[in-house]
Amino acid sequence: MAVRTILHYPEPLLKKISEPVSEFDDALKELAKDMAETMYDAPGVGLAAPQVGELKRLIVIDCSGRDEEPDLIVAVNPEIVEAEGESCEEEGCLSVPEYYASVKRFNRVKMSYQDVEGKPHQRQAEGLLAVAMQHEIDHLQGILFVDHLSPLKRSIFRKKYQKLMRQKEEA
Ligand code: ZN
Repeated sequence: MAVRTILHYPEPLLKKISEPVSEFDDALKELAKDMAETMYDAPGVGLAAPQVGELKRLIVIDCSGRDEEPDLIVAVNPEIVEAEGESCEEEGCLSVPEYYASVKRFNRVKMSYQDVEGKPHQRQAEGLLAVAMQHEIDHLQGILFVDHLSPLKRSIFRKKYQKLMRQKEEA
C-alpha cells in the first residue's frame, strides 16, 4: 500500500474521461487500496482514480463522521441510476486545495457499481454521501466541482486560485 500523489487543478489529466474497468485483477485491488490510503491520509471524504493519474472508472468514498465506524465504499464503474431532490452544499476537492463553493446537486441518489471482484451492488444515499457520489463520478467525466459554478463565480475562482498557488510557491 502506498499514499499516491494527488494531482491538482489545472492538471490537464483531470479534464479527461476515464475508461470503464473490465479487468478485476490485482492491479485494480492495489490501486483501490492506495486510493483509500491516499484519501484517509489527505484527509478527504472521497477520491477518484484520475486524481492520482489513473484514467479508470474507480472511486473511493468514506463520509462517516469522526465518532462513527469507517464506511469505506470502493466503487468500480459507478453510475447514478436514480436521483431526486435538490441540495446546495459547500464542496471542496483534494485536487483544488483551499477552495470551497456551494454546488447544486441532487439530494438523494441511488448508485450502482461493482466491487473490486466485479460483483454488482447498489447503494442509496442522501445528503453528504449523495453529494460525494455525484462529485466523484463527475471526476470520471473530467468534471470538477468548479465547472458547476456560474461563469462569473468561475472567473473569480480562477483569479483567487492563481493567487493562492503563487503564494504557495513563494512560501
Ligand atoms: Zn474532487
